[in-house]
Amino acid sequence: MRRTLAFDADDTLWHNEGHYADTQEAFRALLRPYHDDAWIDSRLHDTEMRNLQHYGYGIKGFTLSMIETALELTEDRLDGAGIRRVVELGKAMLELPVEPLPGVAEVLRDLAGSFELMVITKGDLFDQEAKLVKSGLGSHFSKIEIVSEKDQATYAAILERHGIPTASFTMVGNSVKSDILPVLALGARAVHIPYHLTWAHEVVASPVESPFPVLESIRELPALLATW
Ligand SMILES: [Mg+2]
Repeated sequence: MRRTLAFDADDTLWHNEGHYADTQEAFRALLRPYHDDAWIDSRLHDTEMRNLQHYGYGIKGFTLSMIETALELTEDRLDGAGIRRVVELGKAMLELPVEPLPGVAEVLRDLAGSFELMVITKGDLFDQEAKLVKSGLGSHFSKIEIVSEKDQATYAAILERHGIPTASFTMVGNSVKSDILPVLALGARAVHIPYHLTWAHEVVASPVESPFPVLESIRELPALLATW
């Protein structure tokens, strides 16, 4: 039986967090007449966290959270043109090209011969499907899972659904919280490839000594797997 290698998508296969950072800078600029940057960031983060239970992850929920935060921070003085501006910021994010990280396409092509390749990502179904198509990477994967949360129960259900033995499953991703810890807790393997930006919600305290491999780039992955 072939081993299954599952990849996170955002900031593992392609750039993502930078788009949020750029949009958040434009959002700050809109509200700078009212508040300082740190307060705007902190209130937006609080709104996003509060809204995760309603909207889940993704750009649509982020856009609604920006609108809500803007109304709160301006005490409802933000006018129609201001709200239109926020909606346009969100829409612009959805229309951005999807830029694979360096080495991703080559490494997937290499590994496809020896592993069953899978994507496990959270976010908006429609947006993540569109990104897979836009990235040009979709054809490398035989299984794609777009889920609302990546915790131990989610991974257990995915393995069960596809009949994948825990011992033959490896997850690769940039988030220790979502891609690594829940997979290790299940008894499967995980490889961390950090991205230079991490969303505050995904930050966890790093163990002093990582009980999992940490790579600088996906280009180092085939050599690591060859040693297993
Ligand atoms: Mg990610």
